[in-house]
Amino acid sequence: MNKGKLIIFSAPSGSGKTTIVHRLMQIFDCLEFSISATSRAPRGQEVDGKDYYFLTNEEFDSRVAADCFVEWEEVYQGTKYGTLKSEMERIWAKNHTILFDVDVKGGVNLKSIFGENALAVFVMPPSVEELRRRLVGRGTDSAEMIERRVAKAEEEIAYADKFDRVVVNDSLEDAVEECRRMVTDFLAV
Ligand code: ADP
Ligand code: 5GP
Repeated sequence: MNKGKLIIFSAPSGSGKTTIVHRLMQIFDCLEFSISATSRAPRGQEVDGKDYYFLTNEEFDSRVAADCFVEWEEVYQGTKYGTLKSEMERIWAKNHTILFDVDVKGGVNLKSIFGENALAVFVMPPSVEELRRRLVGRGTDSAEMIERRVAKAEEEIAYADKFDRVVVNDSLEDAVEECRRMVTDFLAV
Protein backbone atom coordinates (compact mmCIF):
# COMPACT_ATOMS: atom_id res chain seq x y z
CA MET A 1 0.00 0.00 0.00
CA ASN A 2 1.27 3.48 -0.92
CA LYS A 3 1.29 4.94 2.60
CA GLY A 4 0.24 8.50 3.35
CA LYS A 5 -0.87 10.17 6.55
CA LEU A 6 -3.91 9.53 8.68
CA ILE A 7 -5.63 11.24 11.60
CA ILE A 8 -7.73 9.19 13.99
CA PHE A 9 -10.47 10.54 16.23
CA SER A 10 -11.92 8.30 18.91
CA ALA A 11 -14.15 9.15 21.86
CA PRO A 12 -17.03 7.93 23.95
CA SER A 13 -20.30 8.56 22.10
CA GLY A 14 -21.62 12.04 22.92
CA SER A 15 -18.21 13.66 23.54
CA GLY A 16 -18.55 15.86 20.46
CA LYS A 17 -16.19 14.00 18.13
CA THR A 18 -18.47 14.24 15.07
CA THR A 19 -18.96 17.97 15.66
CA ILE A 20 -15.19 18.54 15.87
CA VAL A 21 -14.40 16.33 12.85
CA HIS A 22 -16.93 18.22 10.70
CA ARG A 23 -15.38 21.53 11.71
CA LEU A 24 -11.90 20.26 10.77
CA MET A 25 -13.14 19.09 7.37
CA GLN A 26 -14.34 22.65 6.71
CA ILE A 27 -10.94 24.08 7.68
CA PHE A 28 -8.62 21.63 5.85
CA ASP A 29 -9.29 20.78 2.18
CA CYS A 30 -6.75 17.96 2.22
CA LEU A 31 -8.65 15.88 4.80
CA GLU A 32 -10.95 13.15 3.54
CA PHE A 33 -13.23 11.08 5.72
CA SER A 34 -12.76 7.31 5.71
CA ILE A 35 -16.06 5.61 4.98
CA SER A 36 -16.26 2.45 7.07
CA ALA A 37 -18.05 -0.77 6.24
CA THR A 38 -20.71 -1.93 8.68
CA SER A 39 -23.06 -4.88 9.07
CA ARG A 40 -25.81 -2.69 10.54
CA ALA A 41 -28.75 -1.44 8.48
CA PRO A 42 -28.87 2.21 7.32
CA ARG A 43 -30.51 4.63 9.80
CA GLY A 44 -32.67 7.60 8.81
CA GLN A 45 -31.22 9.44 5.81
CA GLU A 46 -27.96 7.44 5.68
CA VAL A 47 -26.71 6.65 2.19
CA ASP A 48 -24.66 3.62 1.09
CA GLY A 49 -21.18 4.68 -0.03
CA LYS A 50 -21.48 8.05 1.72
CA ASP A 51 -22.14 7.38 5.41
CA TYR A 52 -21.04 3.75 5.37
CA TYR A 53 -20.62 0.85 3.00
CA PHE A 54 -23.59 -1.17 4.22
CA LEU A 55 -22.97 -4.93 4.06
CA THR A 56 -24.95 -7.93 5.19
CA ASN A 57 -23.41 -10.02 7.96
CA GLU A 58 -22.40 -12.62 5.37
CA GLU A 59 -20.80 -10.05 3.08
CA PHE A 60 -18.91 -8.57 6.02
CA ASP A 61 -17.62 -11.99 7.14
CA SER A 62 -16.52 -12.96 3.64
CA ARG A 63 -14.48 -9.74 3.39
CA VAL A 64 -12.91 -10.54 6.76
CA ALA A 65 -12.00 -14.00 5.42
CA ALA A 66 -10.55 -12.44 2.24
CA ASP A 67 -8.34 -10.12 4.37
CA CYS A 68 -9.95 -6.97 2.94
CA PHE A 69 -9.92 -5.07 6.26
CA VAL A 70 -7.12 -3.07 7.87
CA GLU A 71 -9.02 -3.39 11.15
CA TRP A 72 -12.53 -4.30 12.24
CA GLU A 73 -14.41 -4.54 15.55
CA GLU A 74 -17.76 -5.75 16.82
CA VAL A 75 -18.43 -2.32 18.37
CA TYR A 76 -21.95 -3.17 19.50
CA GLN A 77 -23.11 -6.73 20.11
CA GLY A 78 -23.89 -8.32 16.75
CA THR A 79 -22.80 -5.24 14.77
CA LYS A 80 -19.42 -5.05 13.08
CA TYR A 81 -17.60 -2.02 11.74
CA GLY A 82 -14.33 -1.96 9.84
CA THR A 83 -11.93 -0.05 7.64
CA LEU A 84 -11.42 -1.54 4.18
CA LYS A 85 -7.92 -1.48 2.71
CA SER A 86 -9.48 -0.32 -0.58
CA GLU A 87 -10.92 2.75 1.20
CA MET A 88 -7.50 3.86 2.45
CA GLU A 89 -5.99 3.33 -1.00
CA ARG A 90 -8.81 5.33 -2.61
CA ILE A 91 -8.07 8.37 -0.41
CA TRP A 92 -4.27 8.18 -0.50
CA ALA A 93 -4.39 7.89 -4.32
CA LYS A 94 -5.72 11.47 -4.25
CA ASN A 95 -2.86 12.55 -1.96
CA HIS A 96 -5.38 13.31 0.76
CA THR A 97 -4.91 12.68 4.48
CA ILE A 98 -7.42 10.17 5.85
CA LEU A 99 -9.65 11.21 8.74
CA PHE A 100 -11.00 8.37 10.86
CA ASP A 101 -13.91 8.20 13.27
CA VAL A 102 -13.51 4.78 14.87
CA ASP A 103 -14.12 3.24 18.27
CA VAL A 104 -11.28 3.36 20.82
CA LYS A 105 -10.01 -0.15 20.08
CA GLY A 106 -9.97 0.57 16.33
CA GLY A 107 -8.12 3.82 17.04
CA VAL A 108 -5.44 2.07 19.08
CA ASN A 109 -5.10 -0.62 16.38
CA LEU A 110 -4.70 1.90 13.56
CA LYS A 111 -2.10 3.82 15.58
CA SER A 112 -0.10 0.66 16.20
CA ILE A 113 -0.21 -0.29 12.50
CA PHE A 114 0.69 3.14 11.06
CA GLY A 115 2.93 4.58 13.83
CA GLU A 116 4.43 7.97 12.99
CA ASN A 117 2.21 8.31 9.90
CA ALA A 118 -0.78 8.49 12.24
CA LEU A 119 -1.98 11.14 14.68
CA ALA A 120 -4.36 9.57 17.22
CA VAL A 121 -6.63 11.98 19.11
CA PHE A 122 -8.94 11.09 21.98
CA VAL A 123 -11.84 13.49 22.53
CA MET A 124 -12.65 13.53 26.25
CA PRO A 125 -15.96 14.76 27.66
CA PRO A 126 -15.63 17.20 30.60
CA SER A 127 -17.45 14.64 32.79
CA VAL A 128 -19.67 11.59 32.48
CA GLU A 129 -22.63 13.69 33.67
CA GLU A 130 -22.06 16.22 30.89
CA LEU A 131 -21.76 13.34 28.41
CA ARG A 132 -25.19 12.11 29.49
CA ARG A 133 -26.62 15.64 29.13
CA ARG A 134 -25.24 15.91 25.58
CA LEU A 135 -26.67 12.54 24.57
CA VAL A 136 -30.07 13.57 25.95
CA GLY A 137 -29.77 16.96 24.20
CA ARG A 138 -28.81 15.36 20.86
CA GLY A 139 -32.13 13.53 20.93
CA THR A 140 -31.07 10.59 18.72
CA ASP A 141 -31.07 7.78 21.29
CA SER A 142 -33.62 6.11 23.54
CA ALA A 143 -33.15 6.38 27.32
CA GLU A 144 -31.95 2.77 27.37
CA MET A 145 -29.40 3.39 24.60
CA ILE A 146 -28.14 6.49 26.43
CA GLU A 147 -27.49 4.43 29.56
CA ARG A 148 -25.65 1.80 27.48
CA ARG A 149 -23.51 4.47 25.86
CA VAL A 150 -22.74 6.10 29.24
CA ALA A 151 -21.82 2.74 30.79
CA LYS A 152 -19.51 2.02 27.84
CA ALA A 153 -17.92 5.49 28.18
CA GLU A 154 -16.31 4.54 31.49
CA GLU A 155 -14.49 1.64 29.78
CA GLU A 156 -13.54 3.76 26.78
CA ILE A 157 -12.04 6.57 28.88
CA ALA A 158 -9.53 4.02 30.22
CA TYR A 159 -7.98 3.92 26.71
CA ALA A 160 -7.26 7.66 26.58
CA ASP A 161 -3.58 7.39 27.54
CA LYS A 162 -2.90 5.14 24.52
CA PHE A 163 -3.56 8.09 22.19
CA ASP A 164 -1.05 10.72 21.04
CA ARG A 165 -3.24 13.57 22.24
CA VAL A 166 -6.24 14.00 24.54
CA VAL A 167 -8.53 16.98 23.86
CA VAL A 168 -11.09 17.85 26.52
CA ASN A 169 -14.19 19.11 24.71
CA ASP A 170 -15.51 21.59 27.25
CA SER A 171 -15.73 24.80 25.23
CA LEU A 172 -16.30 23.66 21.62
CA GLU A 173 -14.45 26.66 20.18
CA ASP A 174 -11.37 25.97 22.33
CA ALA A 175 -11.41 22.26 21.42
CA VAL A 176 -11.67 23.02 17.68
CA GLU A 177 -8.81 25.51 17.93
CA GLU A 178 -6.64 23.00 19.80
CA CYS A 179 -7.36 20.36 17.14
CA ARG A 180 -6.73 22.84 14.33
CA ARG A 181 -3.27 23.56 15.75
CA MET A 182 -2.35 19.92 16.26
CA VAL A 183 -3.49 18.96 12.74
CA THR A 184 -1.51 21.88 11.25
CA ASP A 185 1.63 20.72 13.09
CA PHE A 186 1.12 17.09 12.06
CA LEU A 187 0.60 17.96 8.38
CA ALA A 188 3.71 20.14 8.36
CA VAL A 189 6.21 17.35 9.14
P1 ADP B 1 -20.11 12.16 19.15
O1 ADP B 1 -19.80 12.20 17.69
O2 ADP B 1 -18.85 12.13 19.99
O3 ADP B 1 -21.07 11.08 19.55
P2 ADP B 1 -21.59 14.66 18.73
O4 ADP B 1 -20.64 15.47 17.91
O5 ADP B 1 -22.78 14.08 18.08
O6 ADP B 1 -20.80 13.54 19.58
O7 ADP B 1 -22.05 15.62 19.95
C1 ADP B 1 -23.01 15.18 20.92
C2 ADP B 1 -23.95 16.36 21.25
O8 ADP B 1 -23.22 17.32 22.03
C3 ADP B 1 -24.45 17.10 20.02
O9 ADP B 1 -25.80 17.49 20.25
C4 ADP B 1 -23.52 18.32 19.92
O10 ADP B 1 -24.16 19.42 19.31
C5 ADP B 1 -23.22 18.60 21.40
N1 ADP B 1 -21.87 19.17 21.64
C6 ADP B 1 -20.71 18.91 20.98
N2 ADP B 1 -19.69 19.60 21.53
C7 ADP B 1 -20.20 20.32 22.56
C8 ADP B 1 -19.65 21.24 23.53
N3 ADP B 1 -18.36 21.55 23.54
N4 ADP B 1 -20.48 21.77 24.44
C9 ADP B 1 -21.81 21.46 24.45
N5 ADP B 1 -22.40 20.61 23.57
C10 ADP B 1 -21.62 20.04 22.63
P1 5GP C 1 -23.05 4.12 14.81
O1 5GP C 1 -23.61 5.11 15.80
O2 5GP C 1 -22.70 4.74 13.47
O3 5GP C 1 -23.84 2.87 14.66
O4 5GP C 1 -21.74 3.58 15.52
C1 5GP C 1 -20.58 4.09 15.26
C2 5GP C 1 -19.56 3.48 16.21
O5 5GP C 1 -18.73 2.59 15.50
C3 5GP C 1 -18.69 4.60 16.73
O6 5GP C 1 -18.14 4.26 17.99
C4 5GP C 1 -17.62 4.64 15.66
O7 5GP C 1 -16.48 5.31 16.12
C5 5GP C 1 -17.41 3.14 15.41
N1 5GP C 1 -16.88 2.86 14.07
C6 5GP C 1 -17.34 3.34 12.88
N2 5GP C 1 -16.58 2.87 11.88
C7 5GP C 1 -15.62 2.07 12.44
C8 5GP C 1 -14.53 1.30 11.89
O8 5GP C 1 -14.28 1.27 10.69
N3 5GP C 1 -13.78 0.62 12.78
C9 5GP C 1 -14.02 0.65 14.11
N4 5GP C 1 -13.20 -0.06 14.89
N5 5GP C 1 -15.03 1.35 14.66
C10 5GP C 1 -15.82 2.06 13.83
